[in-house]
Amino acid sequence: MTTDVVIAGGGPNGLLLACELALAGVRPVVLERLPERPTDPKANGLVGRVVQALDYRGLYERFSGSSRPPGPAPGFQFGALPLDLSVLDGNALYTLPIPQRRMEELLEQRARELDVEIRRGHELSALRPAADLVTADVRGPHGRYELATKFLVGADGGHSIVRKQCGIDFPGVTDRSFTSRSGQVTIPPPVAVPGTGELDVPGAGRFRPATFTRTERGLFAHGMFQPGLYRVAVHEWAPSPLQDSTAMPLEELRSAVRRVIGGDVPMSEPVGGQPAALRRSTGANSRQAGRYRHGRVFLAGDAAHVHSGVGGPGLNLGLQDALNLGWKLAAAVNGWAPPGLLDTYQSERHPVGQRVIMHTRAQMALLSPGPNVTALRELFTELLCEQSTTRHISDLMAGADIRYDTRTGGPAHAMAGRWMPDIAVRTENGPTRTAELLRPGRPVLLVLTDRADLAGAAKEWGDRVDVITAATAEPPVDAALIRPDGYVAWAAGAAEPASAGELRKALSIWFGDPA
Ligand SMILES: Cc1cc2nc3c(=O)[nH]c(=O)nc-3n(C[C@H](O)[C@H](O)[C@H](O)COP(=O)(O)OP(=O)(O)OC[C@H]3O[C@@H](n4cnc5c(N)ncnc54)[C@H](O)[C@@H]3O)c2cc1C
Repeated sequence: MTTDVVIAGGGPNGLLLACELALAGVRPVVLERLPERPTDPKANGLVGRVVQALDYRGLYERFSGSSRPPGPAPGFQFGALPLDLSVLDGNALYTLPIPQRRMEELLEQRARELDVEIRRGHELSALRPAADLVTADVRGPHGRYELATKFLVGADGGHSIVRKQCGIDFPGVTDRSFTSRSGQVTIPPPVAVPGTGELDVPGAGRFRPATFTRTERGLFAHGMFQPGLYRVAVHEWAPSPLQDSTAMPLEELRSAVRRVIGGDVPMSEPVGGQPAALRRSTGANSRQAGRYRHGRVFLAGDAAHVHSGVGGPGLNLGLQDALNLGWKLAAAVNGWAPPGLLDTYQSERHPVGQRVIMHTRAQMALLSPGPNVTALRELFTELLCEQSTTRHISDLMAGADIRYDTRTGGPAHAMAGRWMPDIAVRTENGPTRTAELLRPGRPVLLVLTDRADLAGAAKEWGDRVDVITAATAEPPVDAALIRPDGYVAWAAGAAEPASAGELRKALSIWFGDPA
């Protein structure tokens, strides 16, 4: 039996991709080598456009526990320099604090609701791509077996066997000049300032949570993700003589913090059975797969790119890879993918990955020690007084500077290729938002003015494109053809009027021939 899609890796990116495929009527098989989800902490939250993208799937409510739509952050940091985002008239740097483990639990729950088959304890051990299918060798709890599939996606993390077996190179750098240590600890008052999350460290000063502090010795950050449980991370610009696999005692973390901030933070093992999750790692990789596609095999998430975690960009990038690939792969399985659609995964997402590698390296440079860097930081601080610079950096970190190729050849509306903003509209079913219209994961033609000709033209694609006529106070466009991942494929406006023929062309380019 041939499966439509096998996803190797049940981390956040593999699971979201599985949900996207299932929404589009494809039943993927997820192979996850670990029988149980690991307890060691990874991401603390999401930063950037992805927060809105999750709202556009109805997942933001689950992730945040709030029924209110997400909003932009008032401030953030770039290379431990403060970014005052409150000066901007709106920004795309949305943040959502959520531990990765919880995120994965919720995505797995969603995938199971959508009838995705998740095989835990099943490891992809090899794959053999051929012209018409891919054969996966799997090691399961009851032995080895083969799985034939039309498409296979490697969402199997930074050490991706899929990437290696396809011979896809992974150029970049491995920087071994620093050591990172982290753990979950209890910190007693008065160092832990009650009710604020701050640390008041004698001789070193006051440290705000969720904020990087740079010193000449390294970086320090902490956060409180559950009452009384602090995550502490410290980076030193020196390699450790110890292997990463050598167990790290709590005293090692405490000493490293003392060396970096010049004061003592009393720490003890967490109470209530939480793991201390003490972890040491030397250096970091900054690498990107040379290509994201090898015939019927694709890479997504950390399998396609790894980089410094400064600014928390990993899942903004990876989850949007999944949203970009999901509907395109489903279109191929469902038999209506127009020529070249699958190749747009590489042409759209590879440059976005390059920009994340660029800005995380730039931030690492700004965090490095030395008087030259200190001078550079002063200069950057001056530049960040300019609203335009703050906007530039905020858009870069959020991934909001993306403009995908519209593929229509001619001049395009200014919104084409860009993110569809979440606007309040009124449809025949009452008041709603763009985000809610996109939740079924289908393409939407949203007609906001008196353009019945456009709505009529799209009816021929009605089996795969939802045509929605709505009213809004100040329509940003007359009509927008919105892809399932939230980006505008095509738009018409008062200044750029477009004909129904042009819409038909865009519909064919993006969503295939009419039924
Ligand atoms: C300490 C730390 C803090 C971080 N903080 C943040 C943050 O705050 N914000 C943020 O956005 N990002 C953060 N990141 C990055 C983020 O965790 C990663 O980008 C994310 O985990 C990538 O997800 P993924 O699904 O691509 O890969 P992974 O999470 O690595 O998942 C891959 C999965 O594939 C499975 N697998 C591997 N090989 C096979 C195989 N052969 N067969 C079957 N299954 C296989 C693995 O068991 C794993 O479950 C952090 C990372 C670390 C380490």
